[in-house]
Amino acid sequence: MPTVEADALESFARTALVEAGAPADAAGAVASSLVDADLAGHTSHGVVRVPWYVEGVATGDVDPDAEPSVESAGPFAQVVGGAAFGQLVGRRAVETLVETTRDRGVAAVGIRDSGHLGRIGEWAERVAGEGLLFASWVNLQGGAQRIAPHGSADRRLGTNPLTFAVPAFGALPFDPVYDGATSQVAHGKVIERDGSGERLPEAWTVTDSGAPVEHAAGFEAGEGALLPLGGRETGYKGFGLATMAELFAAVVGGGPVATEPDQAWRGNGAAFLAVDPAAFTTPEAVAGKVEALAEHVRSADPIDGEGGGALGDDRILLPGEKEHETRRRRLDEGIPVTETVAGDLRDLAAEQGTEASLPEPIR
Ligand code: NAD
Repeated sequence: MPTVEADALESFARTALVEAGAPADAAGAVASSLVDADLAGHTSHGVVRVPWYVEGVATGDVDPDAEPSVESAGPFAQVVGGAAFGQLVGRRAVETLVETTRDRGVAAVGIRDSGHLGRIGEWAERVAGEGLLFASWVNLQGGAQRIAPHGSADRRLGTNPLTFAVPAFGALPFDPVYDGATSQVAHGKVIERDGSGERLPEAWTVTDSGAPVEHAAGFEAGEGALLPLGGRETGYKGFGLATMAELFAAVVGGGPVATEPDQAWRGNGAAFLAVDPAAFTTPEAVAGKVEALAEHVRSADPIDGEGGGALGDDRILLPGEKEHETRRRRLDEGIPVTETVAGDLRDLAAEQGTEASLPEPIR
């Protein structure tokens, strides 16, 4: 697949967002977050979203000039997105969280009415990069329902991601980050297969008859639901986690929970929590624990062809390692852009009547 240099892709995305009416700073922040998701290997949350964001501005769902507002009291704050881009809301929430945790040792920041917060791992990495522990519970504010409760094929909850990060203080070349939807896969991974004609993996979805949804187009047309994490047999675990994320995000963020079946996009709500490990221990001790655990986990024998698998070899991977390695490779080799995504971006530039042409593939 042709690959495109990260900087060139970011510049293309920024131009499209400015053309849609975003001020240069806001467009720069959004473009940088989208390309960061592409670099981390989460192309479902990368520049593929640019046409969707541009449409959001056109329909008035996103106000490109809006700034999130912050209401705070002691170690607690709520960030209200209004119609601002989620990437601005995420930045504001992280700034507030880090500043308050530095002062108080612990902080909780709720988010409501945010635009799409994108890859939640970005916010986790930023907080861990400041030497703080991070946990978050994110919901879809009652919209974009894709997950069925365990034992059903009716869509009732968003893909409500759970995300955690621990600073490694140099023990590893990355901070361990767990960041995943509470469905078998993020909805973005289904969207990515739309139009490909490829069958969806059977473990991802369920319909009323118990059979899986065959194709992404069927799922997008409303057929079946995503199975909660754990799948057909132990999906009650993912369903439980999705329910808790729904409630944590709504209670701390102050936004709504799912009540009526609803496929429309209603934005993200969230609960972000940070803890300064210095309240309990030293950075050296944290690094020692991370290193010892990493060594122990990696000493497990990989099963031939199955191990970590994710990077094309059998290495055992820690949470966040795949994203770290993928970023390292893609900074060097470029970001793979499928013909479908390239076509959508070219169409957008043509519709906007800009001179911006999709950067030349580097391979
Ligand atoms: P995923 O399944 O690709 O990864 C989940 C976690 O597993 C990651 O921490 C990753 O490092 C780890 N991992 C992956 N492969 C591994 C392996 N072989 N060995 C060890 N660890 C491994 O993630 P997902 O559930 O498809 O979610 C993708 C993205 O979608 C996330 O960034 C999430 O934040 C985002 N998302 C956003 C929203 C939203 O509304 N903003 C909703 C849902 C998901």
